[in-house]
Amino acid sequence: MAGPRPVRAPRGTGMTARGWQQEAALRMLQNNLDPEVAEHPDKLVVYGGTGKAARDWNSFDAMLRTLRTLRDDETMLVQSGRPVGVMTTHEWAPRVLIANSNLVGDWANWEEFRRLEQLGLTMYGQMTAGSWIYIGTQGILQGTYETFAAVAAKLASQRRSATSGGPGAGESTLAGTITLTAGLGGMGGAQPLAVTMNGGVALVVECDPSRIERRIEHGYLDVRAESVADAMRLAVEARDARRALSIGLLGNAAEVLPQLLAEGAPIDIVTDQTSAHDPLAYLPAGVDFADMAAYAEDKPADFTTRARESMARHVEAMVGFQDAGAEVFDYGNSIRGEAQLAGYARAFDFPGFVPAYIRPLFCEGKGPFRWAALSGDPQDIAATDRALLDLFPENESLARWLRLAGERVHYQGLPARICWLGYGERAAAGERFNDMVASGELAAPLVLGRDHLDCGSVASPYRETESMRDGSDAIADWPMLNAMLNVASGASWVSLHHGGGVGMGRSLHAGQVTVADGTTLAGEKLRRVLTNDPGSGVIRHVDAGYEEAEAVAAERGVRIPMREG
Ligand code: NAD
Repeated sequence: MAGPRPVRAPRGTGMTARGWQQEAALRMLQNNLDPEVAEHPDKLVVYGGTGKAARDWNSFDAMLRTLRTLRDDETMLVQSGRPVGVMTTHEWAPRVLIANSNLVGDWANWEEFRRLEQLGLTMYGQMTAGSWIYIGTQGILQGTYETFAAVAAKLASQRRSATSGGPGAGESTLAGTITLTAGLGGMGGAQPLAVTMNGGVALVVECDPSRIERRIEHGYLDVRAESVADAMRLAVEARDARRALSIGLLGNAAEVLPQLLAEGAPIDIVTDQTSAHDPLAYLPAGVDFADMAAYAEDKPADFTTRARESMARHVEAMVGFQDAGAEVFDYGNSIRGEAQLAGYARAFDFPGFVPAYIRPLFCEGKGPFRWAALSGDPQDIAATDRALLDLFPENESLARWLRLAGERVHYQGLPARICWLGYGERAAAGERFNDMVASGELAAPLVLGRDHLDCGSVASPYRETESMRDGSDAIADWPMLNAMLNVASGASWVSLHHGGGVGMGRSLHAGQVTVADGTTLAGEKLRRVLTNDPGSGVIRHVDAGYEEAEAVAAERGVRIPMREG
């Protein structure tokens, strides 16, 4: 049996596979498990609780071996992190097709999933863990930055109506506010930097001391507080000076939030990114962090009950802060659903972040578009940043993001960049990048992909499709259509997963990654994939009755049969 070992993607132009598409999959699979990138690489866990890149080390080795010999007219099939077949296809077909964690409806729960996982039959793929396009905490940073920018805009507009536009009322930053949240893991670790990039103060509760140290080391978190009182003193001082500051506090959110609420702490914004989607990854109140792993393994049912009860107390405190006037939202980890399971009746009193802030972006086909430089050279990303500024000179928020990202983002693994681009923009970027590879302006090819959390690729009633206008939250045809469309359009690898973000039984979602190797063929594939993929988001939102999406479809020429004739 093969076992854990340090993994790092090769860099540069020397290939060990037969073509760049196979080489790209090979490198991105390894990159997901680079210790700089993955949260727990020895366990093949990339992020998001137990989101894995491969089922076991033998499967990992078999995938590398297969990708090295795979021809340009062959496709490797991956079933929950394990390569199960190689079929003859054609050069426009994806080189890899991935299905992760899918279960038939009535069986789609954690208990059954764990039973099958124990038998070695499946793996939790999260979103970009099992589909090999996780780029470290930066991947979520821009989405989190955009979300907090939207919160700032909402608070500014509330201030404007309250003061009829008094001095400073029009400012749209988080300066002078305190955000309280928890979780400094792979995704949650982006929160403190996203808040300080927006000028605010962030107080983040985390029960694992190593996560606090890691975020400080990577420049995502500024300081660590010694106690709850110390944390509040630091937060209030910075807030009063309108200084951006992020503070990590070692503790259990289910204990700290109720305490802060009882003390009347002056909190303006509350959210959470603990791994609440998986009750075995949420530390119950009264349990020492050091005992967590053994307890979860030895007594999973008991642990789950206690974790859910703690989540109910945690969510009750969040509702309490909302009652006291704070802006409160669920950040996509299903904590409201878990608290409801524990019997807390007001769990859904605050909204999810998508209906609250993100849906208008989805209507434009905007979502977390990202790319990585297979050269390993940060200069390649700097060149793509410049190309985007040149392509979209009128887009000020993009320019602000690229400047801040250039200054503050610490690369993990292969250098990469994320930008929320919309319908039309992604295709323009992809074609330009492919030209830059062809001309030699970039040292090696790029991979262009995205999170599964995108406009047309996911059905997730507690998150991306919460409160759809037509009530179609749980309709899962859309991610299936999205995956098939990307296969038909020429993506290099396509994935269809279940349970990412919010957990088993609660989501179905698809991903695509396409390689820009500078060839004419790659340019053609990129044009189709990067048009059709966000296009499926526009049509999904037109179908649900969003006028913003109808306007985008009409203006940019997305065909909708039911609107024709
Ligand atoms: P992670 O497992 O890497 O990190 C979770 C962190 O929460 C860990 O560091 C853990 O120590 C901490 N934690 C657990 N219980 C705690 C408690 N009671 N008090 C304080 N800290 C506690 O997970 P992640 O990748 O950071 O993801 C966090 C959550 O966000 C997951 O549920 C994930 O599915 C969800 N998610 C959200 C988005 C989004 O866009 N909003 C995207 C992906 C994932």
